[in-house]
Amino acid sequence: MELPKEYDYNAIEEKWLNTWQDSMFYFDWNSKKPQFIIDTPPPYPTGNFHIGNALNWCYIDFVARYKRMRGFNVMFPEGWDCHGLPTEVKVEELNGITKSQVSREEFRQMCVDLTTKNIERMRKSLRRLGFSIDWSNEYITMDPSYFGKTQASFVKMYERGNIYQQNHPVNWCPRCETAIAFAEVEYDARDTVLNFLNFDKLQIATTRPELLAACVAVAVNPDDERYSKYVNTEVKVPVFGHAVKVIADKSVDPTFGTGVVMICTFGDKQDVRWWVEHKLPLRKAIDKTGKMTGIAGKYAGMSTDECKKAIIEDMKTAGILYKQEKLDQNVGACWRCKTPIEILSERQWFVKIVAEDILKTANEVTWVPDYMKVRLENWTGTMEWDWCISRQRIFATPIPAWYCAECGKTKVAKEEWLPLDPTQKAPPEACECGSTKFRGEEDVLDTWMDSSISALHVSGWLSDKPLLLPAQLRPQGYDIIRTWAFYTILRSKSLLDKKPWDTILLNGMVLGEDGHKMSKSRNNFIVPEEVVKKNGADAFRQWAAIGGTTGSDIIFSWKDVVAGSRFLQKLWSIVRFSMPHISDKPASFTPVDLWLLSKLNRLVKECTEKMDDYQFDETFKAIRGFAWDILADNYIELAKSRLYGDGEGKRAAQYTLYVTIDTLSRLLAPFLPYFSEEVYSHLKKESVHQVLWPQVDESLIDADAEATGELIKDITAAIRRYKSEHGMALNSELKGIEIYSSLTDASDIAGAANSEVKLKTGTPDFETVPTVLKPNMKVLGKMYRSRAKPIAEALLNADPKLAASGSIELTIDNEKITLDNSSFTVEKERHLKGKAVDVLEVGSAVIVITRK
Ligand SMILES: [Zn+2]
Ligand SMILES: [Zn+2]
Repeated sequence: MELPKEYDYNAIEEKWLNTWQDSMFYFDWNSKKPQFIIDTPPPYPTGNFHIGNALNWCYIDFVARYKRMRGFNVMFPEGWDCHGLPTEVKVEELNGITKSQVSREEFRQMCVDLTTKNIERMRKSLRRLGFSIDWSNEYITMDPSYFGKTQASFVKMYERGNIYQQNHPVNWCPRCETAIAFAEVEYDARDTVLNFLNFDKLQIATTRPELLAACVAVAVNPDDERYSKYVNTEVKVPVFGHAVKVIADKSVDPTFGTGVVMICTFGDKQDVRWWVEHKLPLRKAIDKTGKMTGIAGKYAGMSTDECKKAIIEDMKTAGILYKQEKLDQNVGACWRCKTPIEILSERQWFVKIVAEDILKTANEVTWVPDYMKVRLENWTGTMEWDWCISRQRIFATPIPAWYCAECGKTKVAKEEWLPLDPTQKAPPEACECGSTKFRGEEDVLDTWMDSSISALHVSGWLSDKPLLLPAQLRPQGYDIIRTWAFYTILRSKSLLDKKPWDTILLNGMVLGEDGHKMSKSRNNFIVPEEVVKKNGADAFRQWAAIGGTTGSDIIFSWKDVVAGSRFLQKLWSIVRFSMPHISDKPASFTPVDLWLLSKLNRLVKECTEKMDDYQFDETFKAIRGFAWDILADNYIELAKSRLYGDGEGKRAAQYTLYVTIDTLSRLLAPFLPYFSEEVYSHLKKESVHQVLWPQVDESLIDADAEATGELIKDITAAIRRYKSEHGMALNSELKGIEIYSSLTDASDIAGAANSEVKLKTGTPDFETVPTVLKPNMKVLGKMYRSRAKPIAEALLNADPKLAASGSIELTIDNEKITLDNSSFTVEKERHLKGKAVDVLEVGSAVIVITRK
């Protein structure tokens, strides 16, 4: 069957999509093969598979397919990280409600419905991109089968004392009305104003005068002599009039502002440190919605911004505020809505962070690229408080706990009661006080509590399957090192005292074509589906493969995608040409076959090493270089005449092509699942995705064979150049080509040159014969002016042998003129056995072409 000329990616990709069975990629829990479990990132089900996700999934799929072909029992699960604020916000938007207008259960159901719909859409994209996902190991974090495990992990850690409840300052988003973790706070430089206030006997400087009502102390540096006499005295807070102590603390910078600062509960993290160290009282001036509380007096009920404006005006009028200066300040904001965060002290649930454990475990994991580990180490070093895991939201894993209505004691669920929602279900046993009346915990868990046990979940934790932790690979973006990587290490260590994975592979971010972060407002936003529609999944995957190295940011480029399509067409043309010629019957190879096979085995070796190191770009570039430059542009051109001919040489070329296309299909299989499957289907019955990665045949890697092949290739190229320089058609025949070299087989040179070729050894015995004296008009013109022309004519007509001494004597108008060799050039030609020849030198070989 002849293959069509054009590679129709659309038809072919659709065909295989409908042919492949999910079971081809199932993990076998009872397999004897070495395991390779991938702890894939569960994406947030927004309904759209983001291009950054798609890049990450390409990397995962390259690894999964490669490892399968290397004989591993691979699990490439697909998770969905469902819970969280973005879905709540979307549900409110789509239904035109706020979460408080419907019951908790109703609201939760709306979130579940939206998420279910979105997951369905995203599954389609994942399939279309050709990812070899193990759908038998799909997990959905909002399903009780998964969140029951999140709850079990909570209970286990609570029972071991790794989770506790406490009144402690936490980062709080007043717009989202929930506590958030440090990892969810984004710091941004903002312009602010430093206000100088007369503060009783002192002067202080503050950026947050609206917190004056929450002032609990004033601090100075103990070495600052200006203020030592005030330490341990009391001062009165302006406007509000309550008295606070002056304390000495080394961390006050005497050069900032006036050298006196006020401590409020809480302006920033430093306030929290001082508050703990000096055991200061708590004054809450801001409530959970970001409004001023009753202690703010006339400002109560105002937003913090309104209060700030009003109190500044009032203090200016009263002469309290005497100076203002501009200041650059890093302000923490909510990751989700960018509202500046507040620090509020509330009763929350916390997970203990043991920095040494995390650092030690991180060291047991291989980091690719290794410099990324520093990010985790730095982050671990900055953690000051434990991880606040309670959120005041709805769509999340419920915290399995109740409060006794009689004595107020907290009751945490037993593992065997799970999964459950404490707002729906009472505990099956009474409180220690005997009461059976409980209030269910309404706080829910941080979504990272769900996703940070993904490695445990996919490795069989709390199931009827064997526990196969650690997983082998965690692929993820570097942007979530401080969250997902950090929390997973923490939880795996805390729950099972094990590292979660052997290796973590970090991928970069995808930037728009303009080099900026992709965003709808910048108009540089690309969705993977659009690329697939225009150029096919295999072209998209090629961009992912060669776009950059793992760990670095990658610019999306239509040019690379189009180049990917072009490469597919080029490969297709090679295959289309080869198909009628190939044969799986071995025959004895010619030097050109051996050259190709040596290069091919070298390629297999290189690809294997680079795939083991996750260097997808290098691997793919090597394959492309081989297919394009070596196979298409050279081997096929050289072997063509044998393929069209007959005999042993033909059979050798047929077999060489067979081996090469078979090997190339398998090398390409991880990158181009559709294309490689299509090509392989013309060779063999089984799927290329169920065969092994090619083996290196070391015996075929041969430097001599490569040198010989290169020489043949270069000689052929030189003969082609010769023809084109002489205005001859490339298939025109040359008479009498003799090659002086160590070559023993010239069949492919003869074939490619369409001429008879004689092989000779040694060096040709040339005779050099002068043919003509070419006048140098520049010199002649200068010396002889008007006589230059006749002199030049005489030179051209003279017997060139007369100039053997280097000069020549001519007679012009009866006058004898002697010209030295600056006036002319002696043109020579080479003769071999009395015939004029052209000589091409290629490396150590000499090619002699007899002139007609
Ligand atoms: Zn927020
Ligand atoms: Zn009780």
